[in-house]
Amino acid sequence: MLLETRRLSARYGDFQALFGVDIALGPGETVAVIGANGAGKTTLLRSIAGVLANAADEIVFNGEPIGALSAPKVMARGIAMVPEGRRLFPSLSVEENLLIGRHGRAVDGVWSLETIYELFPVLRERRDNPGTALSGGQQQMVAIGRALMSNPRVLLCDEISLGLAPVVIRDIYAAFPRILASGASVIVVEQNIGQALKVADRVYCLMEGRVTLTGTPASLTRDDIHAAYFGVA
Ligand code: ATP
Repeated sequence: MLLETRRLSARYGDFQALFGVDIALGPGETVAVIGANGAGKTTLLRSIAGVLANAADEIVFNGEPIGALSAPKVMARGIAMVPEGRRLFPSLSVEENLLIGRHGRAVDGVWSLETIYELFPVLRERRDNPGTALSGGQQQMVAIGRALMSNPRVLLCDEISLGLAPVVIRDIYAAFPRILASGASVIVVEQNIGQALKVADRVYCLMEGRVTLTGTPASLTRDDIHAAYFGVA
């Protein structure tokens, strides 16, 4: 496996958000993590990205324990995150927002301003606009492009379809084959179950900080997912 969480726990003070979560991501895979509001999906991604501190061996990347590393160090190893809510810098242009991602990791790879503009041509047209003057879907493209600029081996995507129209969601996910072809593996966190099942090789469902279901999209029934998601059949 390229990336694994091993009995991963996470807390916010006295509140425990994750309880012994085991997730695995193989090279070239897309894994989806689904679950209701508050299930712990964002906490899982923030733990992997080093935003939340964990025990070193709770997260293993390329055979090395990374759970205790800071976010910049995790990024330098090749794990980039597209945060929930996109978090663009409002005073910077589209191009400047993209360039920020380049500071994360000094390695060669296919991603540059030019290839990001090929992936999302509308961003080339809007390159001098402030990031926040864009539509929600275009802002999401900038957030994805910014993460790709570090040429990650693992891309973590937090609710990238949230609040977007179906046609826009389709455009964004249309970029995934090229992202995978660049050598990245992907974890998507989605409340949009249909989208998760469409894009993922394997799915994990989280409920109240625990994995309640895992399998390939084809192996999971609607009833299984419903029970794992809501706790009732
Ligand atoms: P959402 O879809 O709402 O983002 P989620 O599945 O991503 O949900 P998390 O954001 O990981 O869930 O939250 C998991 C639990 O941890 C929730 O009960 C939430 O209230 C709690 N939580 C999240 N962030 C904090 C924080 N900074 N301080 C305290 N509790 C938090």
